[in-house]
Amino acid sequence: MENTKTTVLVTGGTGFLGVHTILQLLQQGYEVRTTLRSLSKKDNIIKALEEGGITDFSKLTFFEADLTRDDNWGEAVKGCDYVLHAASPFPAQDPKDENELIIPARDGALRVLKAARDAGVKRVVLTSSFAAVGYSINVENHVFTEEDWTDVNAELPAYIKSKTLAEKAAWEFIEKEGNGLELSVINPVGIFGPALGGITSASLDIAVTGILNGTLNYTPTFTMGVVDVRDVADIHLKAMVNPKAAGERIIATSEGVMSFYDVAELFRKERPQYTENIQKLEPIEKEFYKEMSNEKAKTVLNWNPRSRDEALLASADSLMKKS
Ligand code: NAP
Repeated sequence: MENTKTTVLVTGGTGFLGVHTILQLLQQGYEVRTTLRSLSKKDNIIKALEEGGITDFSKLTFFEADLTRDDNWGEAVKGCDYVLHAASPFPAQDPKDENELIIPARDGALRVLKAARDAGVKRVVLTSSFAAVGYSINVENHVFTEEDWTDVNAELPAYIKSKTLAEKAAWEFIEKEGNGLELSVINPVGIFGPALGGITSASLDIAVTGILNGTLNYTPTFTMGVVDVRDVADIHLKAMVNPKAAGERIIATSEGVMSFYDVAELFRKERPQYTENIQKLEPIEKEFYKEMSNEKAKTVLNWNPRSRDEALLASADSLMKKS
């Protein structure tokens, strides 16, 4: 396989997206490295990858590295062709001090980019978020595209700010100090799909577990785009090698958006066996539905995502299997 001579570092291998990304890279024959904050979590990753069908781990190497410290980043990227930077704090609840998220997200991205540049890496693919695209304009009938940026001067939750500031800092670094290093950015909406090895993320904890176990007892007045984690991993691999993705930010979403009421209704219709604890939720007005476009991902990268229903049902199935 031609990929056997290509080495890719995935940061945040313990994460919901990180583990799916490692899985696809190994399936495609790449040499893979991953960073984790503590090597003690290595076994969780191996268990999840085994669940994904991996039996040979000879092409996977682990490095301990934290976004808030310089240690080991240079070693982790040395000899890598590409870096997929997925690590960033994503707690289910915002901390009191926004810097708990902003500093590791922004300074961590800069640490990874500097190490990649110094090691002669060809391209970094940064996992940003729709959080950096669509959280300050509230214009009716506006379909969000890659041209839109969240205004960090607005009053925003810390996570949204952290993702916006990290992406902005990354583009600025590439422009001023990149020295030929290429950057592509993926901006996923809410990521769902199967939780491999029980590894979840705040998106699943809030919008799938929260709805199914009845913790969520009202419908917030916002909607979310939905994308399957398998398609987000796939778009990272596509953006890594496609020359047209260099210097681009690309929204990753399946078609359409949903409120939490819509998600609950989907579960009631398609998985009635899971729904005994779901609370009575109310629909929200159409004016709160906020659409975004996946045209660029489809045309530039030939990306073809699963439907939002498939992504959400795969999350529910994997979580209910575990409980
Ligand atoms: P996740 O499971 O919470 O993964 C986050 C990863 O970041 C974990 O591996 C975590 O490591 C790592 N991390 C956090 N703080 C760190 C630090 N100080 N140093 C090193 N690593 C650190 O969430 P996810 O959904 O897979 O998120 C992956 C990426 O996708 C993130 O950049 C997130 O912002 C982005 N994203 C997620 C969604 C979504 O809906 N899930 C949507 C858009 C974008 P530990 O295991 O050690 O905590």
